[in-house]
Amino acid sequence: MPTYPLTALVLRKTKLGETDTILTLMATDGTQVRAVAKGLRKPGSRFGARLEPFSVVDLLLHTGRSLEVVTEARTVAPHAGLREDLDRTAAAAVVVDVLEKISLEGQPEPRLFGLATATLDALEGGTLEVSRALVVAFLVKAMAMHGYRPELESCAACACEQVAGGAFSLVHGGALCPSCGDLDPSALRLPEAARSWLAYLLGSTMARVAAEPPPAAATDDCFTLMRSFIAYHLPARLKALDYYAGLTS
Ligand SMILES: [Zn+2]
Repeated sequence: MPTYPLTALVLRKTKLGETDTILTLMATDGTQVRAVAKGLRKPGSRFGARLEPFSVVDLLLHTGRSLEVVTEARTVAPHAGLREDLDRTAAAAVVVDVLEKISLEGQPEPRLFGLATATLDALEGGTLEVSRALVVAFLVKAMAMHGYRPELESCAACACEQVAGGAFSLVHGGALCPSCGDLDPSALRLPEAARSWLAYLLGSTMARVAAEPPPAAATDDCFTLMRSFIAYHLPARLKALDYYAGLTS
């Protein structure tokens, strides 16, 4: 079989047999690709430490009988700083865990790759104080790209513009105005500051979020809301998100 090049972000490593590893990757077009790195867990593997989660790599692959097989790997962006302390590792783990759940084989979403690398770059270069704001911005943007964009600027039920905070309905997919607040008895509390800051995170670049993060209290409210939003829309449990929430709250 001919080989072909693929630039991808390493999302996860899974052991296979005695010394092999299955890599879950997200390609630059946002599709998920699984490939075997043979002998990766042998001492002195020719791949060295290049195929770690959070790394962006240039690969040569060939199509094997059931999975793609990695024949060569070159590092593009190691993101080594994300592996150097627990908080950054936990934040980056949320990013790759969510990407593993929302990226699909054969279904491109090219914006996901740009979002992923911008988030990992900002997490690596930013202070720990801004890392939670970056995680929340990633979560709300990734869910929007996945088809679940929370309505934050107008009422999710009647489309009026009288949303001044108060209630957020998972069923309706966004903020509710005071008149519609009773439509959903299970609506979540959404303070006005959190509503406007979440809209800011949805609409800002990662570089801007890193430079001008929301106040910590608003970030916490946005994070809590996004956890509920994701749990409502994604069937899979996100262990990395649960861990990160426990670590920083
Ligand atoms: Zn309304």
